[in-house]
Amino acid sequence: MARYRGSVCRQCRREKLKLFLKGDRCYSDKCAFEKRAFPPGQHGQSRMRKVSDYSIQLREKQKVRRIYGMLEGQFKRYFETAESSKGVTGENLLVLLERRLDNVIFRLGYASSRSQARQLVKHKHILVNGRTVNIPSFLISVNDVVSIREKSRKIETINDSLEAVARRGVPTWLELDQKNYTGKVKSLPDRQEITMPIQEQLIVELYSK
Ligand code: SF4
Repeated sequence: MARYRGSVCRQCRREKLKLFLKGDRCYSDKCAFEKRAFPPGQHGQSRMRKVSDYSIQLREKQKVRRIYGMLEGQFKRYFETAESSKGVTGENLLVLLERRLDNVIFRLGYASSRSQARQLVKHKHILVNGRTVNIPSFLISVNDVVSIREKSRKIETINDSLEAVARRGVPTWLELDQKNYTGKVKSLPDRQEITMPIQEQLIVELYSK
């Protein structure tokens, strides 16, 4: 699948927000955003111009798309699914994004970033209900059990990430049995449990134009 190949930190600077795309580095003083918290490019530091509603909506969509590491076409398809489902479209969208297997791996602390989580899934280190799943966009459901394959439990990055999970914490809709490298989906997340600074209504407005 196609993916973004440019500078990762540039995306945080563009959105003027730490998106935590690089794992442990994001929590250290090596974080590029800590040094240059302004958009990249020649005019990055120029005075703030008046921004249009469209621009605000676009930036919000780009921010969420980048947090979850998705390309435009795929993100739009998630929006269409959210729109055709029962309930509030914006909330449906966020819940769908949170249900992605790569996100759940990251949230459980098996990986320090979603991109690292995608690698673990693609390299067949992850089991869902005891069966190997190598599709990062696989959508988990309530009561699914997400575990690390027995042979993969010695991988250093997984163990390092699990050690660091205490700093981030595991969301209340998931349950981690760290000793057995097993996580359970207790429920789907509520909007209040998705604590990132996201205004999903702006994305709905953008796509409704
Ligand atoms: Fe963003 Fe992380 Fe890079 Fe900092 S280190 S700019 S938070 S991706």
